[in-house]
Amino acid sequence: MIELTDVTKVYAGGVAALAGVSLRIEPGELVAIVGPSGSGKSTMLNILGTLDRPTTGHVRIDRYDVARLSDAGLSALRAGRIGFVFQQFHLASGVRAVDNVADGLLYSGLPRSQRRKRAAAALERVGLAHRLDHEPHELSGGERQRVAVARAVAGEPAVLLADEPTGALDSASGAGVMQLLRDLNGAGTTVVVITHDRDIAASLPRQVLMRDGRITTEVH
Ligand code: ADP
Ligand code: MG
Repeated sequence: MIELTDVTKVYAGGVAALAGVSLRIEPGELVAIVGPSGSGKSTMLNILGTLDRPTTGHVRIDRYDVARLSDAGLSALRAGRIGFVFQQFHLASGVRAVDNVADGLLYSGLPRSQRRKRAAAALERVGLAHRLDHEPHELSGGERQRVAVARAVAGEPAVLLADEPTGALDSASGAGVMQLLRDLNGAGTTVVVITHDRDIAASLPRQVLMRDGRITTEVH
């Protein structure tokens, strides 16, 4: 599904955020990438999700070599195959939940009515059928993250990448979001969860431990 081979990432200014990482994620996996702040987790997620390109090394998503795709080709791959969830939800304020989710489907080319229908179905899937018309400020943190998850999965991506999805939530809401990610994985989506929380990582079937831009340990 995703394969990184000897990937490095050096940011402008010379920070080597990834210092040679190789990782293979198979379809249907549920993987935690865990490590302290600054260890390169978000950089890795950006590269797994084709939001950024490596400095050196190879990235394959499905059968595509990312280096061979144009920026437009990468955008299309991302829109069709990959869903993202971030710590701070990234919802549009003043926009109803159903439209926040429907706007994530703009790239699909579906008409607005169809996008809304799919958005409502995705919100139902995350347990928010009763919150379609609520704006972000009318939702709890856990509900906001559920909307973000609904937006990420409305287009039925093969892979869901979540960067500290419980980082802004209390432990009960965080546990709910983790259960939701497990359920989505159970229904077939490949899920990668980035976390600095060792307990959350330990609750997932595979853990990739990072430190100083390298993978130090793998637990299956
Ligand atoms: P984590 O998500 O594990 O906290 P990051 O991948 O965000 O780690 O960061 C890894 C290292 O790269 C850190 O030292 C960070 O300061 C640096 N870094 C991250 N993003 C950038 C950037 N856009 N430009 C320069 N340095 C960056
Ligand atoms: Mg991070």
